[in-house]
Amino acid sequence: MAEPIVRIDSISKSFGAFKVLDGLSMQVMPGEKLALIGPSGSGKTTILRILMTLERIDGGHIEVEGEQLYHMERGGKLVPADERHLARMRQKIGMVFQLFNLFPHKCVLDNVTLAPMLTKGVPKAQAQKRAMELLDMVGMADKARAMPAQLSGGQKQRVAIARALALSPRIMLFDEVTSALDPELVEEVLNVMRRLADETDMTMLLVTHEMGFAHDFADRVLFFDRGRIVEEGRPEEIFRNPKQERTQSFLKKII
Ligand code: ADP
Repeated sequence: MAEPIVRIDSISKSFGAFKVLDGLSMQVMPGEKLALIGPSGSGKTTILRILMTLERIDGGHIEVEGEQLYHMERGGKLVPADERHLARMRQKIGMVFQLFNLFPHKCVLDNVTLAPMLTKGVPKAQAQKRAMELLDMVGMADKARAMPAQLSGGQKQRVAIARALALSPRIMLFDEVTSALDPELVEEVLNVMRRLADETDMTMLLVTHEMGFAHDFADRVLFFDRGRIVEEGRPEEIFRNPKQERTQSFLKKII
């Protein structure tokens, strides 16, 4: 039996007096495709940001590939992780954001090569070769020298996916990656993600309001409400036959 690639154990997180996550636990198996769904404000994005170490946790533990994310072992004791440990752990994880977050003054190719060159010391020629392969995969090789401002939202998002993949992460996090796009641009981004899901064994966590896509993409769906997982299961169970009243009423509203 394989070990989980991510173990989240009783984590809590507050913003001021507002408790976003309250003793949340979940596990992700290697290669698993997970969809996190639920009402706005239920804590889905916060979990991705915590995994990416963009937010700290107030309590609990997270393990990625058997290693503590926010703690490290020193003299047989768990102590808070230092920046070096966090930076190393962060390299296991790639994230794609709702608003692309490309470097506006860098061309497409530089956007994809920068992180491998700076954080992993990959030589420029090698980083560019890999970047061109990834841009080809997302259908953006012919725009390698374009600037982000010259691209459509869907194209920017495909570059952002290539950029996240350039660090060869073990886990990819997608945070509502199509919600800022015009409807006619959504499908080109979803197609890239479908291909990634079909052709790689990468572990993928997806926060989405696209229920049709979540249904097709995910091995398992987690329904969140108020910082807790209310219900989880295979997509066909959650979407066709939700057991919890809160899941039922959410799906009734959104579908
Ligand atoms: P979801 O992704 O399910 O919509 P989020 O994880 O984005 O929910 O947010 C959960 C709650 O935490 C929301 O009410 C949001 O306003 C609040 N929140 C998120 N990030 C911050 C922050 N940096 N500062 C203050 N409140 C925040």
